[in-house]
Amino acid sequence: MLDIAIIGSGPAAFSAAINAQQRNKEVRILGRSIEASMLYLAEQVDNYLGMPKESGKTMMEKFLAHVLEAQIPFAESRVDQILSMGDYYVIRTGEEFIETKAIILALGMQKSRPIPGEKEMLGKGVSYCATCDGMLYRNKKVAVVGETEEGEKEANFLAEICENVTYFPRYQAENYDLHGNVTLDLRKPKAVLSDNDRTKGLLLDDGELLCDGIFFIKKTTPPDDLLFGLQMDGNYIAVDRSMRTNLPFVYAAGDCVGKPYQVSKAVGEGLVAALQAAEDLDQLKK
Ligand SMILES: Cc1cc2nc3c(=O)[nH]c(=O)nc-3n(C[C@H](O)[C@H](O)[C@H](O)COP(=O)(O)OP(=O)(O)OC[C@H]3O[C@@H](n4cnc5c(N)ncnc54)[C@H](O)[C@@H]3O)c2cc1C
Repeated sequence: MLDIAIIGSGPAAFSAAINAQQRNKEVRILGRSIEASMLYLAEQVDNYLGMPKESGKTMMEKFLAHVLEAQIPFAESRVDQILSMGDYYVIRTGEEFIETKAIILALGMQKSRPIPGEKEMLGKGVSYCATCDGMLYRNKKVAVVGETEEGEKEANFLAEICENVTYFPRYQAENYDLHGNVTLDLRKPKAVLSDNDRTKGLLLDDGELLCDGIFFIKKTTPPDDLLFGLQMDGNYIAVDRSMRTNLPFVYAAGDCVGKPYQVSKAVGEGLVAALQAAEDLDQLKK
């Protein structure tokens, strides 16, 4: 079992990982590729101490090199779900389940807004995770709304289980790699339709689609959907000054806890979260 699982792959996650390892904790980073970090998009960063006029891409490459040099395990992955098992947590990434005593969430900023009805119907026909909930829709009709190419994989996976799958890409691509009984639909989903507190379809900019389930495959899963019971403060994960969340042994750092969206803040909060997590774990042994 890990001591601390760090979820994310930006400056906050990498800083947390380096500092947790220095406290002799067994650490693993579970995050997307470095290109997915907000920092990677910054053409030039002038306000990070000691690295003026550096591009965000170069900074991320340097941060990653530091992590790899410290031999901290980092396999590119997307975390779909975190389950509390009482005195430890189980993290699901694709088909893999990882056990850990503590978690640092460094997920970055929420990048998309839900459409009307999406949040309200979550768990009542709306899901953010095909591998978690796909089996509930065996031989049924589903829609997949994909924000990235990852949605194509999820639609193909669901095609093996469901009667039919309609795929709504929310990005431009020359080709969509869709198999079997997946139908491509380029109309824009506007709202989730429901009847008697059960999802019945999608309202589109031109018509509607009736279906039993809707999977939204986002760039990032909302934190409180990733981990049930996590307290939010608006769009941000609620934390105290030690970066503790409301859940035991769960900490958060970086853009996901609020403004200002800045590298120095993300790195500093990653450090605070790691030190607090290490201290809390050490207290357990006493
Ligand atoms: C164009 C631009 C210019 C900027 N310029 C500056 C600047 O000049 N100075 C400055 O200080 N800051 C700047 N910033 C802000 C800075 O990039 C962010 O504050 C910083 O990247 C926040 O770090 P983070 O680790 O919190 O989040 P991020 O860097 O966004 O990293 C979060 C990572 O976690 C991953 N993730 C999320 N959910 C999951 C999941 N479920 N499973 C696996 N991985 C997941 C995300 O995909 C992402 O890769 C700029 C940002 C942009 C977009």
